[in-house]
Amino acid sequence: MKSFECGTLVPGCNWHTRAEEDAEVVRRAIEHLRADHGEDTIRPAMVDNIKARIREDHKVDS
Ligand SMILES: [Zn+2]
Repeated sequence: MKSFECGTLVPGCNWHTRAEEDAEVVRRAIEHLRADHGEDTIRPAMVDNIKARIREDHKVDS
């Protein structure tokens, strides 16, 4: 699983998400940025910022 905490990008925000794929995490994060932070235009740099902050969630069996 991959996880992303919005607080690493937007200080003070407690929203976080988790998904199997990076792409799904990015998709959900963008949806959240649009809905809750008023980011109408998601720039490629924003996507890179999200990707750079995605972390591996080690709860899955290895
Ligand atoms: Zn947020």
